[in-house]
Amino acid sequence: MSHKPLTAWRCDKCGERVDEKNGWLEWEAGENYGPRNFKIVHNQKKCCFHDASKDRKDNHLRDYLGTDGRELLLTILYPGDFFVKNFTQGEWDSPDIPQFTEILRRLHVSYYEEARPYLSQAYSNYEMDGANEGTITSSSFCERIFSKYKDSDDVLV
Ligand SMILES: [Zn+2]
Repeated sequence: MSHKPLTAWRCDKCGERVDEKNGWLEWEAGENYGPRNFKIVHNQKKCCFHDASKDRKDNHLRDYLGTDGRELLLTILYPGDFFVKNFTQGEWDSPDIPQFTEILRRLHVSYYEEARPYLSQAYSNYEMDGANEGTITSSSFCERIFSKYKDSDDVLV
C-alpha cells in the first residue's frame, strides 16, 4: 500500500497514526487572547491536551481538511475586514501566527507532516544547503526528505 499525503497525521500526544475518522483538532482561545496551542490528537480523552482548560476549543479533524477545511482555518486566522468591522466592532484576537501556520501546513501541505520528524537529520546531513524558507516547506522537498529518511516503523509509512 502506498502512502497518500494529507490523509494521516501523528497524534501530538501518543504519536500513533490519526486520520479523518478518529482525528481531533484542539486549541485554546480566551477572552483576552486568540487561538493558540493547536494540537492534532485522537478523539479520546487520554490524548487531549486541553481537557481541563476553560478556554478549550475543538472539533473533528475532518472539518479542517480539503478546500472546506482551508476555508474554516482561514476564518480562525482572520475572517476579513468586512466581518470584523460589521460583526465584532473592529475587534479580533488573532491566533499565534507561528503555531497557526504550523497547523495549516501540517493539514494542507503534502508531505510536510511526513517530513517533520526528519528535518533535523536532513539538516545535519547538509540536505538544506542553499535552501530557503520556500524550499524547506515545499511539498517536493518534504516528499524527498520523507522518502529518503523515513523509518520503516514510522506510523505514516
Ligand atoms: Zn493519540
